[in-house]
Parts: sequence; structure tokens; C-alpha cells
Amino acid sequence: MERQNDSQQSQPYVEPTPITDKENPFESMMRRFDIAAEILELEDGVYSYLKTPVKQVVVSVPIGMDDGRVEIFEGYRVIHNDILGPSKGGIRYAPDVTIDEVKALAAWMTWKCAVMNIPFGGAKGAVKCDVTKLTPVELEKITRRYTSNMMDVFGPDRDIPAPDMNTNEQVMAWIMDTYSMHMRRTETAVVTGKPLIIGGSLGRREATGRGCMIVTLAAMEKKKIPVKGSTVVVQGFGNVGSVSAQLLSEHGCTVTGISDVTGGYYNKKGINIPQALEYAAKHKSLKGFKGGDKITQEELLELPCDVLVPAAREQQITAKNARKIRAKIICEGANGPTHADADPILQDKGILVIPDILANAGGVTVSYFEWAQDRAGYFWTLDRVNRRLERMMRTSFDAVYASAKQYNVTLRIGAYILAIDKVAKTLKIRGIYA
Ligand code: NAD
Repeated sequence: MERQNDSQQSQPYVEPTPITDKENPFESMMRRFDIAAEILELEDGVYSYLKTPVKQVVVSVPIGMDDGRVEIFEGYRVIHNDILGPSKGGIRYAPDVTIDEVKALAAWMTWKCAVMNIPFGGAKGAVKCDVTKLTPVELEKITRRYTSNMMDVFGPDRDIPAPDMNTNEQVMAWIMDTYSMHMRRTETAVVTGKPLIIGGSLGRREATGRGCMIVTLAAMEKKKIPVKGSTVVVQGFGNVGSVSAQLLSEHGCTVTGISDVTGGYYNKKGINIPQALEYAAKHKSLKGFKGGDKITQEELLELPCDVLVPAAREQQITAKNARKIRAKIICEGANGPTHADADPILQDKGILVIPDILANAGGVTVSYFEWAQDRAGYFWTLDRVNRRLERMMRTSFDAVYASAKQYNVTLRIGAYILAIDKVAKTLKIRGIYA
């Protein structure tokens, strides 16, 4: 059975050019899904079921703007799969977001939750809007009207949003409040990534970077790379990248390269990470940082190092630059930082890639902890959150590693096999209701 996307089959192969965020990542996800599905010999019906989102909702979000005009925004929520439990996934605000992109991101969430053994399905939401052109009042109105239109979709037992691109704790607080007003009771568990004071979890902010650190150390063990004296390069110095850099350096790694949207910085002797964190907090970026030599974004990715952590954005490692990557391990802090065409090149080079659906799953794991704490009305200490996160990340890393060994595939395909198999088996045992 040929399962590649039709548009892929009909086009001749062309050398891929660097991909922008605008490119539909659904194809990229499906290429990996297809490899795993073939290995699992997934039945056609199950294949189609897992490929197709269970629900796609498009709503109009009319807003009275500050200047008196009425503007209509478009909002989306895609539930890819909810066979393992209520669906979970972020909401992004972006002017160029499409429902296809949301579909792909929702599917990624299904696989991520399944790999982590979290009892959630996958979802994603978005509102097509440019936050830089909105006042705080307009942003709040969009959020509340979008939530109100999604009352039949959201719910602590149904579908639980979280922050994503251009949404934050404040947006989650508005969602929680709007949902609670409609329900006539305070319902904290309807969203995660909330401020601590309204039921957020300790450790949530650092969770993704901490998860990256945990799986990186596990991979170094497998590769027999001693942590002390190892070198790390991190692309992106935001939430995920800066916490990964900080925690890895605290464990004894030397972080020789960091970057953000303003450029890269290299210091052979090691960048002083506390200094870089302070600088970035004060100046809102690394621009002008003097703790390393200025290098280009391309040079940063190609630095010799033990571990490369792409923690910025999609499609940074492509068939064009994959051959030049000199890391021994890549820990995908970002979602989809590696183009599917680069996978075989990295494999040939013997680079161990910890795939995004495992590497950056610390965030959704602590979101799961937040939801569990909200529902129990009992809040954990930071130590308990971090210990449980470590245990879950390690367990999933070992399971993915074993799956990759068993099928003689990369960790990425091993992770997809694990996830698809789990969802498919659950579907089988639940059966198809008709
Ligand atoms: P963020 O906005 O806090 O940080 C992004 C960083 O990347 C910034 O420092 C920015 O300057 C930098 N950047 C942007 N374009 C760049 C480029 N071309 N080259 C180098 N640096 C560039 O975002 P974040 O929350 O850290 O998320 C980063 C990635 O991790 C995204 O792909 C996101 O989807 C993924 N992710 C985040 C979480 C989370 O909990 N925050 C969880 C899972 C996955």
C-alpha cells in the first residue's frame, strides 16, 4: 500500500530549500507516520482512522475594536484523536495560521502524549490574528469570545487547551475565567499553563527545558559521552533553549554556542550561562552580548559539539545543512526542527536524534501534572513535580530506545512506532462505535 501524500507522489524530487514556518508541516509528520505504520503493518482502516482528525471546528470571532469598528477573526480547534483520554494541546495566535497547520500540530500532540504514557489525546487550536496589532483589551475580547464559541469543545474531561505561540499565562487565565463563568463554577482544570495563583503547577515554566536536559543526559549515557567536559550548542534562547542551556551547564556540560533571533554567540571555553540569562532578561534578546564571538545562525548549527539542541523553530535542519552538522546527539527542543529529508542523512552520520515528540514532552507532562493537581485540589511541591517528570522522561526515553533497537530504526521512528501502536491497540480494544 502506498501511503505517501498524493501531492508528494506526483511531484519529482527536488532538492529541498529551507522551509519557513508557513509550510504545512502535516506532510512532514505523515512521512514519519507512514514509515512507522508500514513497519507495524497497520490495517488500512486503522491507518485512515489515525490519520483523520476526529473533530475540526472553525468559528468566527467578532470583536468590537477599540476604535469602534467590528472586526471578524477566525478561530480553529482541531481534535486529532481522543481515544486515550481528553484531548490536549496549545492555542496559538498568528496572522498566517491555517487549519492544515493546526491539524498537523494536533496529530503531533496525539503521538507526544502516547509516547509519554499520558492519558490524553491530541488537539491544537488557533486564532488568525496579529497580536502585535492588538491592544490588551482587544486580545482579551478575542480570547473570551473564542472560548465562549468553544464551550461545546473545551472541558476538563473533554479538551484542555494550553499556551502556544503568542499565548501565555494571562490568556490561559482568561480562558479559565470565561469557561468558569459559563459553567457557573470555577473550573481550573479546563486549561493548563495557568498562573500559579489560579491553579498552575510549580515547575511548569522550566518543564520543557528540564525534560530536554533529562533525555540529553540519558542519550549521553547510551553514547558513552562523559557529561563533564562535554560540549553543548543551543539554538534559540527562549523558554526551552535557555532552560536547557542552564540545566545542562549546571550538570557540568560546557555550553559553547547559543543563539536567538538576533544571531549566534560562540565561546570555545564556554559561555557563562547565568550571565547570558541575565543579559537576555535585561535586554529582551542576546543582541550585543559580549560573552562570545558573534557567528551566523548557519555557523551555530554547524559547530563541533557533543550535543546540539535546536530550540527555536521548525525546519532548521534540512537536507542542505544536515551533512555539515557535527554534533553527536541532537535533542529536538523545538517542534519539528528537522525536515524529513534530513533524517536519513543524520542517521548515516551516526547522529543520535532525540525526536521532538519525546525531547520536548516535558511541557505536556507537567501540564498533565497541573491538570491532575487541579482535579485533586491538592498541589505538589516543586521537588515532587521534578522527580515525577524525571521518572516519566527516563521511562519514555528507555521505551523509545528499546523500540528503536527492536525494529532497527531511528529513535524518531521508534517513538512513532510506540505511539501509533499504543493508540491503535486502544482503538482495537475499545472498538469502533457505530
Ligand atoms: P520562545 O519564544 O520562548 O523562544 C524562541 C527563541 O528562539 C527565542 O530566543 C527567539 O529569539 C529564537 N529564535 C527565533 N527564530 C530563530 C532563528 N531563526 N534562529 C535562532 N533563534 C531563533 O519559544 P519557546 O517556548 O522556547 O519554544 C521554542 C520551540 O519549542 C518552539 O518550536 C515550540 O513549539 C517548542 N516547544 C515549546 C514548549 C514550551 O513549553 N515552551 C513545549 C514544547 C515545544
